[in-house]
Amino acid sequence: MNSGCDMPQSLTHAERHGLILVLSSPSGAGKTSLAQALLAADDTLSISVSLTTRPQRSGEVDGKDYHFVSRQEFERRRDAGELIEWANVFGNYYGTPRASVEAMLAAGQDILFDIDWQGARQLSKMKNVNFLKVFILPPSAQELRKRLDGRALDSQEVIAHRMQRAAGEISHWNEYDYVIINDNFDRSLKTLNAILQAGRHRISLQTGLPGFVATLLNALE
Ligand code: 5GP
Repeated sequence: MNSGCDMPQSLTHAERHGLILVLSSPSGAGKTSLAQALLAADDTLSISVSLTTRPQRSGEVDGKDYHFVSRQEFERRRDAGELIEWANVFGNYYGTPRASVEAMLAAGQDILFDIDWQGARQLSKMKNVNFLKVFILPPSAQELRKRLDGRALDSQEVIAHRMQRAAGEISHWNEYDYVIINDNFDRSLKTLNAILQAGRHRISLQTGLPGFVATLLNALE
């Protein structure tokens, strides 16, 4: 896949608003892999790094995958209004820091959120923000079970709990703008990229367009 950003050269970041791309899915549907691949191919897209109280898994980097904090620290920051949204997922707290998101949007940066339906619902209440909300579904229950078993990152107890929760998460699919059934990774990635590109070309986001068109028309006279 080529670089995801194919905006005309003449429209710089300063001449467009950033958008928020929300990705949700039940655990094991491939959302995190899709998010990583999209980010790797598109240097104008950044990810919002969440705060979490869940233990760090091996291979995860503090400050990159999550900001790993204590429950006490999380509650302090939540109560101080430093989080745009937060949720209790599988018994752990997860939340989005407000300051970094607001700064990125103001700079015309597009932001990807890998969050659950509770977070997506709360984020949607933000005013004057353009959202693309995408839900990733597994192709079948059997495939979902296989992917969760194959991860070997968590205990059997946690996996069983996630299977239970998957049904709950899936039941919120129709609160999103787009649904991708992830039966083929490459195809799903292409579809996700197409959704992002289409969203970026919305007139409402391209604030520099009137100036661009005026210059174009001037040159035609
Ligand atoms: P995991 O522990 O497997 O990384 O994530 C568990 C779930 O929490 C996933 O569905 C993930 O999308 C969600 N999640 C991660 N960060 C946030 C966040 O900041 N807010 C909310 N609401 N959910 C999050």
